[in-house]
Amino acid sequence: MRKNKTRNQNLDVEKAKSSLNKIYQIFQDISFNADEINKSRCPYKNAKSRCTAKFDCKNQYFTNDEELAVCTGSDKLDYRSAWEI
Ligand code: SF4
Repeated sequence: MRKNKTRNQNLDVEKAKSSLNKIYQIFQDISFNADEINKSRCPYKNAKSRCTAKFDCKNQYFTNDEELAVCTGSDKLDYRSAWEI
C-alpha cells in the first residue's frame, strides 16, 4: 500500500512553530496549576464538593437528600490525616 504523503505548499513553518509553542505554553501552565491544586485538594472530592471515597473520613458530612457526603475539607490543609483507613 502506498502512503499518501502530500506537502502543503501553503504551510508557513515559522507560524506553525509559533502556534505550537503557544499551545505548549498554555498546556504547561494548565499542568503546573493542576499539580499545585492536587497538593491540597483531595482526589476523592468531586466538582460538586461531594465525597466519592469508599472509606470513612472526618470531613464527610451526610445529608438526608444526597447519597454522597458533602466534603467539609478546606482544600487548604493536608486532607490525608482525616482519612480513617
Ligand atoms: S470527605 Fe475526606 S475523603 Fe472525602 S473528599 Fe473530603 S477530604 Fe477527601
